[in-house]
Amino acid sequence: MRDAQTFLDGLKDEREVWYRGERVDDVVDHEVIGTAARHAAADFDLGAEHPDLAVTTDRSGRTYSTFWHVPRNGDDLARRSRLIEASTAQGATLVALVREIGSDAAFALQRVLAGRDPEAERIAAFYERCRDDDLAVAVAQTDVKGDRSLRPGRQEDPDIYVHVVDRRPDGIVVRGAKAHTSCSPYVDELIVLPTRALAEDEQEWAVAFAVPVSTPGLRLLASDYLHTEDTPWTRPISTDHKMIETLTVFDDVFVPSERVFLDGQAELAGELALTFVEYHRFTAVSYKLPLLDALVGLAVALAEANGISRAGHVRDKLTWLIGYAETVRGLTHLAAARARVDEATGIAYPDPLTTNLAKWTFAREYSRALEHVIDIAGGLLVTGPGDADWESPELRPYLEKYLGGAVPAAERLALLNLASELTARDYAGYQNVLAVHAEGSLEAEKLMLYRSYDPQPALEFVRQLAGVAPRAAEEVTTPVP
Ligand SMILES: Cc1cc2nc3c(=O)[nH]c(=O)nc-3n(C[C@H](O)[C@H](O)[C@H](O)COP(=O)(O)OP(=O)(O)OC[C@H]3O[C@@H](n4cnc5c(N)ncnc54)[C@H](O)[C@@H]3O)c2cc1C
Repeated sequence: MRDAQTFLDGLKDEREVWYRGERVDDVVDHEVIGTAARHAAADFDLGAEHPDLAVTTDRSGRTYSTFWHVPRNGDDLARRSRLIEASTAQGATLVALVREIGSDAAFALQRVLAGRDPEAERIAAFYERCRDDDLAVAVAQTDVKGDRSLRPGRQEDPDIYVHVVDRRPDGIVVRGAKAHTSCSPYVDELIVLPTRALAEDEQEWAVAFAVPVSTPGLRLLASDYLHTEDTPWTRPISTDHKMIETLTVFDDVFVPSERVFLDGQAELAGELALTFVEYHRFTAVSYKLPLLDALVGLAVALAEANGISRAGHVRDKLTWLIGYAETVRGLTHLAAARARVDEATGIAYPDPLTTNLAKWTFAREYSRALEHVIDIAGGLLVTGPGDADWESPELRPYLEKYLGGAVPAAERLALLNLASELTARDYAGYQNVLAVHAEGSLEAEKLMLYRSYDPQPALEFVRQLAGVAPRAAEEVTTPVP
C-alpha cells in the first residue's frame, strides 16, 4: 500500500492539465490543484488511524487497501461504507474520491463483462494492478451531451459523446469530451464509461477503457470554482480541502487493446452505466454522512452559542435535522444489509431500491437542512468579520465585545465561520450542486427507485384485502405511482 507522499510523487509526469488558461507544470506544486492533491493524499495515510477499516488482508495473506476489496457480502459493503465515512470525516466533510469511484467502476466492469473474453480478462488484469499498486483512479462517465433531447447518434457533432474514430490492429482511437470529471488532474488512471443506454446503430459510442492520465491527447481543463483565498479563519474547510473537476477532452487518444473493456457492444452500454451507478450512489450516501453530522452538530452548537436552545422552534428544527441525518444513515446501512450477490461473479452490490431511496432522501431535503442551520445561525453568516479584522489589535476588542452570544465571541465566530462554509460561501455552493447532480440527478434516482420496486407483493395484499381474485405476475401492467 502507498502512503501520501508516494501517491503525490506518482503525479509528477507529462499530464496535460490547464488551469485559468495556463498549462500546469506540476500539479503537486500548483497552489490550488496541489491543495486538492494533498487533500486526496491524506486518504493514503488513513491506515494509521483506522487500520481495521483501511487495510484488508485476504485469505492468501495479501494486504491491500480496503477500497480495492471486492465486496462479497453485506458485511463487506458495510465496512466499505464505514471506510468512506471515516475518510470523508478526516477530509473535513469533503470526500477524497481517488479510490472510491475507481473501485466502483472496476466492480461494475467485472460484473457486466463476466464470461466475455478477452474483455473480462482485461478488466481483471486492470483491477489487479489497481489493487496491487494501490492506484488512484478517476471515472469519466458523464458526456457533455449537447442537446439533451437528441441521442448520441443524432447529435449534429458526433464528438458530443465520446466515441471510437479509428480501429487499429493494436487498439482504438477515441474522440470527444466528458464533463465534471472529479479528481482527474491528480490521479494515476482514468476509467471511461458510457453515460447511457445506446441503440443498435450507436456502436461507435459504446466504448469503455482505462488510460493513464499522462496519455497523449488527453487534455484536462480544470474548473477554478473552489479557487478561494487562503483564509483559514473564515474558511476552515476549503482552505485545505478541495476537489477539482475537469472538462476531460479526448483529442484522438490512442487506447491499446489490453485497456479496452467495451468496443461496439451497444447492448451492454446501459447495463454498464447503471451497474456503475449502483455502486457509486452507495459511495455517495456513505460520504454524505459526515456532512450531515456537521450540519446537526453546528445547529446544536449554534443554538447554544446564540442562547436559543430552549426555544420551541429551535428544538423542532434540531429534531428535523437529527431525523434527516439518521434517516440517510439508516438507509445507507440498510442498503448494505439488504445486499445482493451477483450469481455470475459472486460480487456483492448494495440493494438498488434502498440505495436510491437513501440518495434521493439526502438530495431532496438538503436545501431544507441548510435552511434550518441558516435560520438558527443568524445573518452573521454573510456579514461577519474577515481574518484581517480578527487579527487586528485595534478591531479585535470590538468584535469580542459585540459579537459574543451565550458563549465568547471567539467561539461563536469560529462556529459561524464553519457554518458559513457549509451554508453560504463557495464551498457551500459546491456541496449544494454536488447534492443535486453528482452521482446522478434527482430524477435519475427517482427513476431507479421506481424501477427497482416490485409492486407484486403489495398488489397481492390489497387484492386479498379487497376480496379480489389473485392475478398472475405477468398480467400486472400498471406500475405503482
Ligand atoms: C461536483 C460534481 C462532481 C461530479 N463528478 C463526476 C465524476 O467524477 N464523473 C462523472 O462521470 N460525472 C461526474 N459528475 C456529473 C454528474 O453525474 C452529472 O452532473 C449529473 O449526471 C447530471 O448531468 P449534467 O450535469 O450533464 O446535467 P443534465 O443531465 O443536463 O441535467 C440538467 C437537467 O436536465 C434534465 N435532463 C437531462 N437530460 C434529459 C432528457 N433527455 N430528458 C429530460 N430531462 C433531461 C435532468 O434531469 C436535469 O433536471 C459530477 C457532477 C458534479 C456537480
